[in-house]
Amino acid sequence: MAESVYIGLGSNLENPVEQIKAAVVALKQIPETQYIADSGLYLSKPLLIDDVESDDQDDYYNAVALLDTRLEPLVLLDYLQAIENNQGRIREQRWAARTLDLDMLMYAQLQMNKARLILPHPGICVREFVLYPLHRLCQKMQQPDLNIPGHGTLNKIINSCSENELKYVGEIV
Ligand code: AMP
Repeated sequence: MAESVYIGLGSNLENPVEQIKAAVVALKQIPETQYIADSGLYLSKPLLIDDVESDDQDDYYNAVALLDTRLEPLVLLDYLQAIENNQGRIREQRWAARTLDLDMLMYAQLQMNKARLILPHPGICVREFVLYPLHRLCQKMQQPDLNIPGHGTLNKIINSCSENELKYVGEIV
């Protein structure tokens, strides 16, 4: 059976819009997986590091994509990490600037806590650049209120997360 999976995409280096577009092309090529839709592109400010704004980092481009997959979660994660590596991501410091970050936000209603994969993604409920694109994608899919396992419904969670300086900038074309 195919399962619905939400993927968070983020980039702030080396022409981020092109990085996101290339990632969408690559996601469409994952075997046993269908690319259903995405949120379109958003622009966000970098996360604070130790409560200090990282002025030296450029803004991030973000999006959320919906896939249907027959792959097991860890196999799908391998494909996501291969796409990150192909697009030149160097794993240095957490929250360092990056060419491409792909996060598995949710895999169906699965909850797991393994070293390599935590589901739902631990940041899902506190990051405006995940929640607002996810909400727009759900509206597109006419899915009224997504349940995020262990956290509650998206409509409830989004009410306690400010949009901050997040901006929708258009479709990924
Ligand atoms: P980050 O640098 O924040 O992208 O974290 C990457 C690391 O998080 C990798 O070692 C992954 O195996 C691990 N990880 C745990 N849960 C997830 C998830 N839901 N999606 C993507 N990576 C994850």
